[in-house]
Amino acid sequence: MMRSADLFREAKKVIPGGVNSPVRAYQSVGLEPPFIAKAKGARVYDEDGREYIDYIGSWGPMILGQADQRVCNAVMEAAKDGLSFGAPTAREVEMARLITKMVPHVEMVRMVNSGTEAVMSAVRLARGATGRDKIVKFSGCYHGHSDPMLVKAGSGLMTAGVPSSLGVPEKAAEDTLTAEYNDLSSVRELFERYTGEIAAVIVEPVAANMGVVPPEKGFLSGLREICDQSGALLLFDEVITGFRLSKGGAQEYFGVRADLVTFGKIIGGGMPVGAYCGSRALMETVSPTGKVYQAGTLSGNPVAMAAGLAQLKILDGHPEIYEHIDNLAQRLENGLQSLVEKYRIPASVTRCGSLCCLFFREGGVRNYPEAQQCDTALFARYFKGMLRRGIYLAPSQFEAIFIGDAHTESDIDKTLQAADETFAEMKAE
Ligand code: PMP
Repeated sequence: MMRSADLFREAKKVIPGGVNSPVRAYQSVGLEPPFIAKAKGARVYDEDGREYIDYIGSWGPMILGQADQRVCNAVMEAAKDGLSFGAPTAREVEMARLITKMVPHVEMVRMVNSGTEAVMSAVRLARGATGRDKIVKFSGCYHGHSDPMLVKAGSGLMTAGVPSSLGVPEKAAEDTLTAEYNDLSSVRELFERYTGEIAAVIVEPVAANMGVVPPEKGFLSGLREICDQSGALLLFDEVITGFRLSKGGAQEYFGVRADLVTFGKIIGGGMPVGAYCGSRALMETVSPTGKVYQAGTLSGNPVAMAAGLAQLKILDGHPEIYEHIDNLAQRLENGLQSLVEKYRIPASVTRCGSLCCLFFREGGVRNYPEAQQCDTALFARYFKGMLRRGIYLAPSQFEAIFIGDAHTESDIDKTLQAADETFAEMKAE
């Protein structure tokens, strides 16, 4: 068996940075990543045989825990009948019906293969349906890596988009306008400046890509109002919050209607899946019924549908899962908060439902400029201490802690014990 360190050396020779998605490289914490060999329930195991309590859950999809037997069985059953047909199948109908049943205000669903693809397609649909080009996004919100969404977060209010990656033409980003999360006046200013030009406002209903930043009271409903007044569409990017905050996602949780919703992660049960959804009138603007083109060879893939359906049906039938994961997250939040106070660590805990975050900044975080004030060096020390004690957190200050149904109170208590020891060590250094 090759160890993680050997694998990483070999990986770097044939894969850029040794990884297929950047944050996996552990660059921001100055370590090399463990290579994962297998996972079960709330545990992951690396190639060196080390066991960890998993708070990444594949960055959100594994809400039931890893290798859930019911989901795995569904995948194996489906695979026996063929891996892909590129033709309509019964499972796609079942999936679309289940999503329309579980999620408020959604009448039609188009399946794609990732969250990036879902957002890219929904943005095209918003532009096609309104005949307008400009999109408002919030600094610090991530919506996948399509060109118009890769605009420098925090590039400054009221400025037209500046690409944050080489290879994104300025022209592809110039219609992306950036506002500040939890600040309705920054959105109103954009609408005044670009009257009649804005197709949609895209928002993570709970921002979970700058750490976890819950929306303040009135923020999401305020966006709804601004969109209604101006004829723009409200697009909830629920790639993280979908089927996690509640069965019906953020629309149900916060009682705010969105025109378009994107999903990913949980709806695939761990397989590569995304979806964008909305009213019949809007969704029929998509080809072949409408003139907004979007397609996919593997979209609605039977094995992926089987995994997603199995997971969603369990969530649909077991509302107590949401109570369990929210309670555990609250236990973690309370425990971390007391430890932060006990050791006088300059940090604060945020939480919404089963999404949690320990920010190394006092006084919480309500937007991207505040998130940027976090002490990432302190986070790296905390992260290393936790990893050494078998706690598998995302290797970045700006990611969520994901709690799933397989976690137990005892897992949370072990995690708090590890945090207690880590903070004590940090204070002593
Ligand atoms: N939107 C949000 C809110 C996300 O968190 C992510 C990924 N973390 C994406 C879109 C992109 O999804 P994917 O990585 O599946 O392309």
